[in-house]
Amino acid sequence: MKINKDHQIINSLRISSHSKYNFLIENNNDCHELYDFIRLKRLPYIVIGEGTNIVAPEYFNGIVIQISLNNINNDKHLNVGASANWNELVEYTIKKNIYGFENLSLIPGSVGAAPVQNIGAYGVEISSLIKSVECFDLSNNSFITINGSDCNFKYRHSCFKDNPDLLILSVNFFNNLKKEFNLNYDSITSYINENNIDFNNLEHNEVAEIINTIRSSKLPDPNNIPNVGSFFKNPIIDNSRLSEFNNFISWPVTDNSSKLSAGQLIGSIKHLLPSYENVDLYEHHSLVMITNSKASYEEVLDFKNSISKTIFNNYSIHLDVEPTIIT
Ligand SMILES: Cc1cc2nc3c(=O)[nH]c(=O)nc-3n(C[C@H](O)[C@H](O)[C@H](O)COP(=O)(O)OP(=O)(O)OC[C@H]3O[C@@H](n4cnc5c(N)ncnc54)[C@H](O)[C@@H]3O)c2cc1C
Repeated sequence: MKINKDHQIINSLRISSHSKYNFLIENNNDCHELYDFIRLKRLPYIVIGEGTNIVAPEYFNGIVIQISLNNINNDKHLNVGASANWNELVEYTIKKNIYGFENLSLIPGSVGAAPVQNIGAYGVEISSLIKSVECFDLSNNSFITINGSDCNFKYRHSCFKDNPDLLILSVNFFNNLKKEFNLNYDSITSYINENNIDFNNLEHNEVAEIINTIRSSKLPDPNNIPNVGSFFKNPIIDNSRLSEFNNFISWPVTDNSSKLSAGQLIGSIKHLLPSYENVDLYEHHSLVMITNSKASYEEVLDFKNSISKTIFNNYSIHLDVEPTIIT
């Protein structure tokens, strides 16, 4: 059965959420059937992977599309189906000595969603690993391959964010067999120095283990504490304003602009925020909004608005939300 009615939308904030329809894609032919179904029903639609980066409404009067293609083909390049789990792919690349994925270890979610916001962590973005992305275009009922260089990848952004008609069916990754690691990120170098680890003799799995240890000390596991990771993007400001933020961490972006730590900014105003019954900030990382599994969509958005407003009133900075808010 490809189409289910009144379907539960699984999401890592654990908001109770349903959609009118759920459409499962298992092969190319299903894509054409979906195209016809959408035209027949004339309802909004959205593709969802594992739901770790969405804010889901109580009821979505539309079609939730889910993809069930989890192949991993390792030939000249690595072709991976959209529903494969991202961290399982990272583990696979480590076993096969394919380099470049290790810094993105333990990021929750599916392979299909990963290019959408150009997932990144510890100095690496997925854009550097992608050769091309195989899609179905719901605007014209056709299949299309988009080269990595044409995906408009930026910090937490890609062409897929702008175009919800593009369903990602699989991703082609470079098959880099040359042993090289990216260990320049501050928290990685600090960890290596503090633990007297020899930079030059690190093995592939040891790099992933270092990343996993650093991540686990900062981010809550969504299986235990509902969350979507970072709730806001780090804001980018003009360097002419940098002197206002002397006490804050910043990273250069271009010659004229820098990125500020949204977590640090939010941490500095959290005592000004109203308290809510079912949502809060994670005690070890103010960029992460957590729930107690009982929060409603409205409560999450209300808390988000309080944070944005307080940041704007105090710093004249507009914070952009990272997860997709389904309306
Ligand atoms: C604890 C925690 C830590 C995290 N850490 C990081 C991190 O370090 N770096 C980082 O970048 N992110 C991080 N995230 C965010 C999240 O893991 C990623 O955004 C992930 O790629 C979401 O995958 P998903 O399958 O759950 O996507 P979903 O939440 O299901 O969807 C996210 C978006 O992608 C779209 N989408 C999903 N699948 C497809 C598809 N096949 N085709 C087209 N569009 C699609 C959806 O429409 C939606 O807009 C973290 C999240 C959590 C909970």
